[in-house]
Amino acid sequence: FPADPTARFITLMDGPRQGVWYSYADVASISARFAHAMAALGVRRGDRVAVQVEKSAENLFLYLATLRLGAVYLPLNTAYQRGEVSYFLEDAAPALFVCRPEDEAGMRELAARCGVPAVTTLGIAADGSLPDMALNLSHEFETVAVGEDELAAILYTSGTTGRSKGAMTSHGNLASNALTLHELWGFVPGDVLLHALPIFHVHGLFVATNTTLLNGGHMLFLSKFDADRVVELLPQASVLMGVPTFYTRLLTHAGFTRELVAHMRLFISGSAPLLADTHTEFSTRTGHAILERYGMTEAGMITSNPLNGDRVPGTVGFPLPGVSLRVAAETGALLGTDEIGQIEIKGPNLFKGYWNKPEKTAEDMRADGFFITGDVGKIDGRGYVHIVGRAKDLVICGGFNVYPKEIETVLDAIDGVVESAVIGVPHPDFGEAVSAIIQKKPGRDDVTEASIIAHVKGELANFKVPKRVWFVDELPRNQMGKVQKAALREQHKAAFG
Ligand code: ATP
Ligand code: MG
Repeated sequence: FPADPTARFITLMDGPRQGVWYSYADVASISARFAHAMAALGVRRGDRVAVQVEKSAENLFLYLATLRLGAVYLPLNTAYQRGEVSYFLEDAAPALFVCRPEDEAGMRELAARCGVPAVTTLGIAADGSLPDMALNLSHEFETVAVGEDELAAILYTSGTTGRSKGAMTSHGNLASNALTLHELWGFVPGDVLLHALPIFHVHGLFVATNTTLLNGGHMLFLSKFDADRVVELLPQASVLMGVPTFYTRLLTHAGFTRELVAHMRLFISGSAPLLADTHTEFSTRTGHAILERYGMTEAGMITSNPLNGDRVPGTVGFPLPGVSLRVAAETGALLGTDEIGQIEIKGPNLFKGYWNKPEKTAEDMRADGFFITGDVGKIDGRGYVHIVGRAKDLVICGGFNVYPKEIETVLDAIDGVVESAVIGVPHPDFGEAVSAIIQKKPGRDDVTEASIIAHVKGELANFKVPKRVWFVDELPRNQMGKVQKAALREQHKAAFG
């Protein structure tokens, strides 16, 4: 590590071990011992290590140990149940599965059925058979020297549009993103990152952790996002990375004031769209403009609003240095300024393909090496990238293409509406009918299906006006704050008979 070995890398800020901290020397020695333990369990260079454990400092040391071994780190969402875990174990064929101590019996059985040769455990109190085994092993481990094209990790996509796919990420991919973001976001010695994201996902694992490691910086580690705890800790931090729901929740917290965050250097948002309203409300409240960026499991970070310069609400900024981004029609024809189409990208951050799915990889790649992201958007006259949705969420109503974001923007601006999601629902005449699911502000009985429809009629062409509007207390989201439109489509699929 480039860092001062006595400097703090991580301090636990909640749970039974609150206050426990680890230095960079600890990072080196514990990851060395874990690497020896995994080698003794049979893990070799190139092998996958599947991991489903709670967020902890040791979980990060396990990630680093896997990389030091030249093995491939494969974290699984902690919410996945047995049926889901067995899909991933069969698909990825890991040499080792690390699970929670409390799950051990069931997971051993499952791993045996899936042909996984070894199982070990890691708990939140630095307990479990892996740390036990590592305890007396050497603090020194000679990190396996790997090529930049060798795999470092396989992360499964969030499964927002279908079954999760394993994205093969190389050491070169991770290094390019970490080096770029460290510089682009202006990390400086002394930066303290408040970490409240899950670490089975690109955002919390790679973006937050790798930039901190590169900076030799300190992370304040929360096992999960808790607005009260975040408000208490912000005075000790300089950078917060969050998903949009972090920011909407902070804005409803009375203790979240301009004074509280006057010293903060940077608030970053990503993983799901940040409403322009949230951005504006945040600036008004705090004087800080949230820096929104865009990325995906297959490419890490792709674009970012500038550190110095206009952070434009509702946009995801410019392609990162070294990353090429273009907008194209389905035919592949390139589109011009402000024209909406598929976002395609290429660069040192782009993954090596989907694990076990060469056909899917080939399908999503253009002949010149650009990757079709599945996101739909445009580039404006100043070069800012706008995401307007996903190709799979496009609604085709009576032969017309309807981009949900355009209608959502109109709906979200209606007084009394908190947020909306527009989906296509099968319809006997139109093919798909534009339909809206809306969260309204509490007590707004005046906001009704009829009032919403009447309002949109005055703003948009008839084929874009929702045929039905349903109200919900909260839109369904995953842990990264992504609205689950597939679930909404499933729920309402029979609405038009
Ligand atoms: P799956 O590919 O399995 O359907 P997923 O695409 O949601 O799931 P991830 O790789 O976790 O899985 O998420 C990447 C997606 O998140 C992007 O393709 C994009 O749609 C969305 N996204 C990320 N950041 C932003 C952002 N700032 N604004 C809008 N969308 C974003
Ligand atoms: Mg995706």
